[in-house]
Amino acid sequence: MTATSMEQLTSLCKRRGFVYQSGEIYGGVQGIYDYGPLGVELKNNIKSAWWRAMVYQRDDVEGIDGSILTHRKVLHYSGHEETFIDPLVDCRKCKKRMRADYVENDECPHCGSKDLTEPRPFNMMFKTSVGPVQDQDSFAYLRPETAQHIFTNFKNVVDSTARTIPFGIAQIGKAFRNEITPRNFIFRVRELEQMELEFFVKPGTDEEWHKQWIETRLDWWEKQGVSRDRITLYDVPKNELAHYSKSTIDLMYEFPHGVEELEGIANRTDFDLGSHTKSQVDLNIQACVQPNPDTTSRLALQDLTAKSWFVPYVIEPAAGVDRAVLAVMNEAFEIEQLENGFERTVLRLPAHLAPIKVAVIPLKKNHPEIVEFTKRLVGELKALALGRVMFENTGNIGKSYRKHDEAGTPLCITVDFETLADGTVTLRNRDTMRQVRIQSQELADYVLDYVKD
Ligand code: ATP
Repeated sequence: MTATSMEQLTSLCKRRGFVYQSGEIYGGVQGIYDYGPLGVELKNNIKSAWWRAMVYQRDDVEGIDGSILTHRKVLHYSGHEETFIDPLVDCRKCKKRMRADYVENDECPHCGSKDLTEPRPFNMMFKTSVGPVQDQDSFAYLRPETAQHIFTNFKNVVDSTARTIPFGIAQIGKAFRNEITPRNFIFRVRELEQMELEFFVKPGTDEEWHKQWIETRLDWWEKQGVSRDRITLYDVPKNELAHYSKSTIDLMYEFPHGVEELEGIANRTDFDLGSHTKSQVDLNIQACVQPNPDTTSRLALQDLTAKSWFVPYVIEPAAGVDRAVLAVMNEAFEIEQLENGFERTVLRLPAHLAPIKVAVIPLKKNHPEIVEFTKRLVGELKALALGRVMFENTGNIGKSYRKHDEAGTPLCITVDFETLADGTVTLRNRDTMRQVRIQSQELADYVLDYVKD
């Protein structure tokens, strides 16, 4: 694979409708992006692939969808009010603000001046007020990570599902970080989406589970087309660890702008459940190895419960959806030199992630029978609920193929005069560009098999 530049990716994203700058018509807002027609599909497909692997294909994980607006006490006791900070410096000459750790040789990266302020802590959480009265106590935070509602709902989930450890709670959703220096397109943004699992284990088994989760996650990335060769494991040194972590392994990926974190896999110990327990005496979330009250006598139950209560440890694989989109697109992007001297841009996405699964193209856009056949076929393919099936009535087959190569559509089907005579269609494969004729009745099985992960 030749290296893809960020410019190539941003230009494709804009041209084909994957990602747009948010509020672009008013000049945009730094670090905030909107996903377009293809981007929303790719993003949804990545999230579905994660949910399938983390929840549906396992027997030990439940899902939740917590709120974004977060009670300030949650983020007080979680330690975020005190520690979710980055060091900020100002350049006195050009007035730009930046993260202190982005400054090299005490020099402003914008104007070169050495007249910088001392670093000071900057809390990255966004605040908003809840209700009509705005005072000291009426504010809430926009969550800076999805994890906290998993911890505060731990007891609710245990009570309503009767889970015992080891088990996990998964969540996908938006998080907000007022990054001092958002940059590198969708890599570092202020409104982001996370896919997080909190996996609760017995203390003492945490290190083994940590290792297992690293392997499980590497396998998952490989299935999304992100090669293991381009991921390195970074054992975060003690002095760089987040306040809650005993040990964190970051999966570092070769993004177009450099090697940076794609996913963090942390051993959060009992930090979060422990802190919320201390703050709320009746939260009582230690109860996780619970004997069944229907089958155990009351006395035995008290005895057993007293002995077996403990605060579970937590292993947290936490991945960013936006960084996943960037990595998956980076892996899939290729400018291919063709034998005829031309080149084509092709996005070789795994079929289960492709925004459009199949494009169906009539050879002639004004030929009533060909168009009618095409529409019927599109209807049949849509009924398979594969995702997006596109009726591509451009009347220009070559142009449609080029467009769908860039969009990452794995299969194109062309309906022509032969179709009307014998029911066969042309099936064109994005990756090989090979075209074969196939009976239209056989398409459903073929396509279903091709796009599953
Ligand atoms: P970084 O060191 O790059 O700031 P982090 O260690 O603060 O990231 P975590 O708190 O571990 O990140 O969050 C888990 C995942 O969420 C990250 O691995 C990343 O994929 C994603 N993420 C975090 N911050 C951002 C951001 N500002 N923009 C996009 N994705 C982010």
